[in-house]
Amino acid sequence: MIEAEAKKIALTGDRPTGPLHLGHLAGSLLERLRLQEEAEQYVLIADVQALTDHFDEPDKIRRNVTDVLLDYLAVGLDPGKTTFVLQSQVPEIAELSVYFLNLVTLARLERNPTIKEEMKQKNYKANVPAGFLTYPIHQAADIAAFGAERVPVGEDQLPMIELAREIVRSFNRIYGPTLAEPLAVLSRVTRLPGIDGKTKMSKTLGNAIDLKTEEEELSRRVMRMYTDPRKVRATDPGHVEGNVVFAYLDAFDPQREELETLKVHYRRGKVGDVEVKRRLIRVLNELLSPIRARRSEWEARQAQLRDILREGTERGRRKTQPVMERVRKALRVDFFSE
Ligand code: ATP
Ligand code: MG
Repeated sequence: MIEAEAKKIALTGDRPTGPLHLGHLAGSLLERLRLQEEAEQYVLIADVQALTDHFDEPDKIRRNVTDVLLDYLAVGLDPGKTTFVLQSQVPEIAELSVYFLNLVTLARLERNPTIKEEMKQKNYKANVPAGFLTYPIHQAADIAAFGAERVPVGEDQLPMIELAREIVRSFNRIYGPTLAEPLAVLSRVTRLPGIDGKTKMSKTLGNAIDLKTEEEELSRRVMRMYTDPRKVRATDPGHVEGNVVFAYLDAFDPQREELETLKVHYRRGKVGDVEVKRRLIRVLNELLSPIRARRSEWEARQAQLRDILREGTERGRRKTQPVMERVRKALRVDFFSE
């Protein structure tokens, strides 16, 4: 008899800093929907990490926890297939982070291009909180504590996964083979731009279309989108590259052939921005309307939401315990265990 191959362990997470948006959908959630069918998947609501740059807004972070869970359920992540874990309630992760801190130099942390970009955005200069600079180390601990082998993320997270791999390799070299080395899994769309044309749609930059956006607000946001500043009249030839509306159509329009024809017409000045934007509004409404409907169904079941998160967190915590036993043993700190 051929033995069934063991399921791979997958882990990702999101910071409860605000509602999830189209960037999350394209960059990570679609991949998670696929992975929940074939992997043992954990999804972490990273409230501890959210506090690194929002430490003065604990109420806001707490409120957003349920909102993010609702977004997960709304896109179709299924609590029967995916385990949802609340990061702050798994102290094993914090414990592993402390040991990982020894394996990374300050210079290595400061070289991280995503951190550099975020520090600039937040204007930290020399006053960067130590917790913020070291969050990639904590993230490596999230991944390693669950023994995760696959991490479906957007492009901005690649330096974090690279660091996690280095940490795991150092750990295994120094203390003996203990931890699994993770691999990043990228979607077809690795970085969705913001509606303002900035390179990344982000909760913090205020340039997002949230998954829960209602029709009217969606139309307003699309109509305000940055297109091609050189195209003033509908009959002017237009540029598709670097055009946000087309970046979104490329990401979400299921009618690929029609879309290619539309691009040809746009380049020749045969269609105007308004027509292209109307198409995008239709495509996004078709994508978001089942998500909105599922969200409102779940919204009415608050007690069940709490149970899903509590049970998921308990299951997640149990998953980290054997890993942590191996870690303590490798580190020679396995005192008082039989
Ligand atoms: P914040 O601004 O608070 O950092 P965020 O919008 O960057 O929020 P995160 O919670 O940091 O969202 O990211 C969660 C996951 O979603 C990560 O894997 C990240 O790569 C992915 N992601 C976020 N924004 C995008 C985007 N615009 N395109 C592709 N993937 C994205
Ligand atoms: Mg982010």
